[in-house]
This record gives sequence, structure tokens and C-alpha cells, in this order.
Amino acid sequence: MKNSASKATPLPDITLRDIGGLPDEMKEEIHQTLSIIKDPKRSTQLGIEAPKGILLYGPPGTGKTLLAQAMAREIGATFFSSSGAAFTELFVGVGASRVRTLFQNARKQTPAVIFIDEVDALAAKRKAHGGEEAEKTLTELLVQLDGGSDNDGILFIAATNRKDMLDDAFLRPGRIDYSFQVPLPDTTGRREIIDIHAKGKLLAADVVASLDTLAESTSGFSGAELSSLFETASRRAIRDGRQEIDKSDLDFAIDRTILGSTSRTMNDP
Ligand code: ATP
Repeated sequence: MKNSASKATPLPDITLRDIGGLPDEMKEEIHQTLSIIKDPKRSTQLGIEAPKGILLYGPPGTGKTLLAQAMAREIGATFFSSSGAAFTELFVGVGASRVRTLFQNARKQTPAVIFIDEVDALAAKRKAHGGEEAEKTLTELLVQLDGGSDNDGILFIAATNRKDMLDDAFLRPGRIDYSFQVPLPDTTGRREIIDIHAKGKLLAADVVASLDTLAESTSGFSGAELSSLFETASRRAIRDGRQEIDKSDLDFAIDRTILGSTSRTMNDP
């Protein structure tokens, strides 16, 4: 298998404005954090240290990956994206060497963001993951995060749905300086996300009139589920040879999403 885990990945054209439902306080903190990173000299004058590592945690599909991409774009960084699973279940020594290569490559292309999704696969509590190999890979990650001035210009962002599983050593300040909880959106947040995903789609008048109700009636839906509502509705309209998404398309898509999450719940162990 080729080591794609350590290559720069193209960044989609995402800004913080494309992410709905984030609490205002969190947006403010993110803006502040990014301004510190963008102006390290001023931060040093003010006696503030630029963060080295950020953890984004929360339920699946809430926009953690989007957020990492938007932050990378905002600071003009090269984006190195991979998943914790890319460093596990490998031959002896490969996980640790992949971690090393990832950081080495990023150091050659600063400013850089290293984003590791599902970091729990890589940084689970030592007792929980067991196994010497996993231990070595995690130790290598900690060594790389402790790179000192070698890591100037590198921002490490990790995402997880299971913060409780993460090793305390990984979460230590200096490695992870800020943790942001990315929650499921509330009604106002869902309304924002609906607007983002409805933009650019042709909607029939009855759909436009029902968007507030849609936000109210989709409690528990993630951003990813709201996005897929519009994709499913759009595909159904196209299939039926219609230009506009109408109410029946949207109702169909809602039923699909609810059924999908019910069968997921039923299949959960
Ligand atoms: P996971 O934990 O499963 O990796 P995630 O939190 O990283 O999920 P994303 O991959 O960022 O979620 O979201 C998937 C897609 O869902 C996005 O590309 C976007 O289309 C949509 N989406 C999710 N959250 C939001 C949001 N807050 N605002 C707008 N769109 C969103």
C-alpha cells in the first residue's frame, strides 16, 4: 500500500462562513486562535504562545473536517490530512515510521496543518488499545508533537467522536492546547446549515416556505445529514425530470434519513 497518509491533500474552497451551527463563543475563540497563528510576532510581544495542537470533538458529521479545512485555508497552510486508522494494523514499525514521515513532509511545506481524523484509533489510552505496536506508534506521535522549534509553522489538528478514549499524555498542553466541542446543531444552527446547502439549488415555492419548519423538525440531525437531505431530494427531482426540488422530494429525503439513522441505531451493538 502506498503511503498516502503523509502527502499534502488539496483543500476545498471552504471558509468558516460555510460552516453552520457553530456556537458564537466557539467562532470567536477560533478567530482569536487563528489571528495568533497568523501573527506570531505580535503574539510573542503580547506574551501569548501560538497553539501547536487543537482537538475537535463531537458527534459524527458535525463539521469537524470542514472546520480543519477552513482553518488551514484561513492561515494559508498546506493541508496534510489522514485518518488515525492509516497508522494502525500495519507491519512492525510502519505506523511509527508513517507518523515520522508525515511530520517530516509537513515541515518541508510550512505553514502546514496536519489533520488526523478519528485520532482515537491512534491515540487511545495506552491500556485500552493494548499491543506493543500501537504503543510505539503513539509514542512516536508524542515525540513528533514535542518537536519544539522544528514544529514552527505547523498546526496539528485532531478530530474524534470519542474524546473519552484519548490518552492523557496526548491531551497534555503543549501537544493539544485547545479542545473545541463541535456539537449537533440546535434549531438556529440547523437553519443556518439548511441555508448553506439549499444555496445553489432550485427550490419550489412550497419548499422555500417550509425551511423554518424543516429546521424545527430535524432535531438530532447532524450537518452531514442535513446536507444529504438536499442531495437526496435533488437526485429524486432529477430522476423524475424536474428542475426544482419540491416538497415531495424533501419529504422522501427526510424519511430516508430517518430510516437510515434508525437502522444504524438498531444495528449498533
Ligand atoms: P466525522 O466525525 O464523521 O469525520 P465530521 O464532523 O468531520 O464527521 P464533516 O466531514 O466535516 O463532519 O461533514 C461532512 C459533510 O457534512 C460536509 O462536507 C458538509 O457537507 C456537511 N456538514 C457537516 N457539518 C456541517 C456544518 N456544520 N455546516 C455545513 N455543512 C456541514
